[in-house]
Amino acid sequence: MTIPFLDLRAGYVELKSEIDAAVARALDSGHYILGPEVEAFETEFARYAGAGQCIGVGNGLDALILSLRALDIGPGDEVIVPSHTFVATWLAVAAVGARIVPVEPDAGTMNIDVTRLAQALTPATRAIIPVHLYGQPADLGPILALARAHGLRVIEDAAQAHGARYRGRPIGAHGDLVCWSFYPGKNLGAFGDGGAVTTDDAVLAERLRALHNYGSSRKYVNDEQGLNSRLDPIQAAILRVKLRHLAEWNDRRRAIARFYLDGLAGSGVTLPTVPDWCDPVWHLFVVQDEGRDALQARLASLGIGSLIHYPIPPHRQKAFAELGFAPGDLPIAERLARTVLSLPMGPQLSLDDAGRIVDAILRR
Ligand SMILES: *Cc1c(COP(=O)(O)O)cnc(C)c1O
Repeated sequence: MTIPFLDLRAGYVELKSEIDAAVARALDSGHYILGPEVEAFETEFARYAGAGQCIGVGNGLDALILSLRALDIGPGDEVIVPSHTFVATWLAVAAVGARIVPVEPDAGTMNIDVTRLAQALTPATRAIIPVHLYGQPADLGPILALARAHGLRVIEDAAQAHGARYRGRPIGAHGDLVCWSFYPGKNLGAFGDGGAVTTDDAVLAERLRALHNYGSSRKYVNDEQGLNSRLDPIQAAILRVKLRHLAEWNDRRRAIARFYLDGLAGSGVTLPTVPDWCDPVWHLFVVQDEGRDALQARLASLGIGSLIHYPIPPHRQKAFAELGFAPGDLPIAERLARTVLSLPMGPQLSLDDAGRIVDAILRR
């Protein structure tokens, strides 16, 4: 591909001297599990996300599982999730033995449709997991209001939304617990796996600190059956460097998104809807098109990479066959799976290349 979907190595090259120094410092510290780099990152990321506390964990899926565990959600409980999301959101609910209750997205924003939430509630509902998909915040106001009215917890899946804002306030502590992934391709990405949970709730934070470290708050004393899911100190050192550049890198994504939105207006592809109450960080730039497969093939023939997020909705995955969903049960998620296409997007994508992509779509 002459224009790859995402050039991760270019991100390393841009920050090479800072990152190499941070890795050397982490190795030299003598702390290879937890320790000062992890603690410093937790402090810095909590501040960035506007949250009182941050607990580094092994990855984004574990952040979700640990959050559900910290809220004692398990068998007999129901958790509302979007039908249109990355499979991890569903896997976390299944992992704790709770029942997955999918709610369809709004076709424009592609985020959970808050007008459909009330009808999904039952006496067994314990929590809602909104996903800030593609870097655009879900409509948290009505979600939090519904949760308050019914005594539910809100766990945000913010794996794609580092730096995004909802009604002017950063994503990080609107809900009870906010789950992050630092998978390399995310807006704040490590060079390996990583994740975190942010929260303003000191009691839940204490619980998570134990749960992510064998259920132990004092070495060799185990109060409950926890996991081993800790943020690696070398990754924490790398993330501290990248956090310092995140605001600027998100601004570059915003500039590319504006360019796409202007350049592709009237092109025939359906552009993402951005409500005025949110400030997205464009983890992905996702268009919809009935002729998606042909469009993707044409872009590929011109050397332009693109991806589909996601080609099979969770309820149609073999992994969830036991839930008994049939084709057509969640039609909006199924239509999005057939029509979405993610255009190249990242802080190292040039506006020149974005221009070539726009031209290729206009002249299809
Ligand atoms: C990436 C991602 C996750 C999982 O994160 P990992 O670190 O890969 O486990 C969860 N939810 C969403 C929406 C994601 O994009």
